[in-house]
Amino acid sequence: MTLSRRQLETLHKMLSLTKSQELTCDECQRNMAEFAETALAGDSIPENLQAIELHLASCGDCEEEFRTLLKALESDEH
Ligand SMILES: [Zn+2]
Repeated sequence: MTLSRRQLETLHKMLSLTKSQELTCDECQRNMAEFAETALAGDSIPENLQAIELHLASCGDCEEEFRTLLKALESDEH
């Protein structure tokens, strides 16, 4: 089976879209503190941090890390 040029272009477009929206665990953990502080402050989540929210929802490892971070931030306030 061969793909037409048009199908290939569509495929490339889909792949680059997915790539720009999905974070790696590294990227997620690098921006996690900023995300946690924004969330705790009750501010609305800016677009660049929404990818983190998505990643946390689908990645158990990062979610666990995030919970630990939240706990640390919350106890800082007291
Ligand atoms: Zn992750």
